[in-house]
Amino acid sequence: MAEVLESSQPIGSMDSRAKWKYLDNILTRTGPFTDEDFPCGEGAIESLSRAKVLVIGAGGLGCEILKNLALSGFQDIHVIDMDTIDVSNLNRQFLFRHADVGKYKADVAAKFVEKRVKGVKITPYCGKIQDKDEEYYMQFSLIVCGLDSIEARRWINATLVSMFDDTDSDSLKPLIDGGTEGFKGQARVILPTITSCIECQLDMHAPRAAVPLCTLATIPRQPQHCIEWAHIIAWEEERKDITLDTDDSEHITWLFQKALKRAQEFNIAGVTYSMTQGVVKNIIPAIASTNAIIAASSCNEAFKIATGGSNPFLGTPGADNYMMYTGDDSIYTYTFEHEKKPDCPVCGNLARPLKVDQRFTLEEFLDGLAERPESQLKKPSIRTEGKSLYYQSPPSLEEQTRPNLFKKLNELVEEGEEVVITDPAIPGQFKYKLRFS
Ligand SMILES: [Zn+2]
Repeated sequence: MAEVLESSQPIGSMDSRAKWKYLDNILTRTGPFTDEDFPCGEGAIESLSRAKVLVIGAGGLGCEILKNLALSGFQDIHVIDMDTIDVSNLNRQFLFRHADVGKYKADVAAKFVEKRVKGVKITPYCGKIQDKDEEYYMQFSLIVCGLDSIEARRWINATLVSMFDDTDSDSLKPLIDGGTEGFKGQARVILPTITSCIECQLDMHAPRAAVPLCTLATIPRQPQHCIEWAHIIAWEEERKDITLDTDDSEHITWLFQKALKRAQEFNIAGVTYSMTQGVVKNIIPAIASTNAIIAASSCNEAFKIATGGSNPFLGTPGADNYMMYTGDDSIYTYTFEHEKKPDCPVCGNLARPLKVDQRFTLEEFLDGLAERPESQLKKPSIRTEGKSLYYQSPPSLEEQTRPNLFKKLNELVEEGEEVVITDPAIPGQFKYKLRFS
């Protein structure tokens, strides 16, 4: 890539293509896996330089994605991010410098890449993805996400699914989603309504299972169990009157020493101060190399799609659409097809069967929806075909339906009846067919 950076001429003029020598090896030749319709040569160069791509997120993944796309020949890139730069970002979000702290990520990232890769245009928007409407999203040929929020992913996914009109092929916007957590990551491609969507795959993001309290209290097996014991049990027993402040180093030191002592009793190695801090503050470290690998994979998919089939891409209907990576103790990747769910609340149309205890109150049932890996709803409203059971808003309707929260489910719905649940954070609705147990 060093060679690519030396020249400063735009990709458009054919006599200046020397700097794109390696790129052109792919764009002007066919290979054993090239699609039959691949517009080899000028056609491919043209379709790549005309592709308008939206990058969502200008953080750890976003910096990598913007740099990769610009160096892969994309020329018209837009980026959305609502965050400003924090000093703790600087170790991996390499488009930012100390002097940029406090400025908007999207702005700074766009300027940096534009300056470094001549001929590329990057249009930043500093704000939320929810500020923009369908008309805005309709202008792009594809969307690449480098987000850490599940809620934002669910929103853009549902928006792209609802935009698709089967009489207009331009309304199909491929969504390429990269995600990382510590040494783990994934890159996946979604063709809205055609292949499995983010909502179909939501259980892949199940919140990490909590360690049962009895394990903490009786037989810890891991250093983390000893830390949780100090955090939840020992602090409560010995320092009840002091409110734990996870930013106070004296408090963390106390927990660390307690945990260390307990670990020694059970012959468990590995408790450290920084692990104590991580467990107590629930921090998953951001790993620069994981971001680099996942962003590279995501941009590779974007390139294959935008060039019109220079190589088969993830998400081709009926083929693999999900690549997972883990670098925990070696390098491991696995690619598979995540199937579309016919009862997906966003891209499917069937009600999903749900077993519930009929003695639950409506409130207990709704609280449970927040925890279920496949729904994870925070502010659900619920109705049946005929009646409103509970609405979060407007206030008058909330008040009117509030008494239902304390009624048992079997007083409100029939066995096998369908309920429709909506949540302001997620466009669309969740349909469940309730089965009593
Ligand atoms: Zn779906």
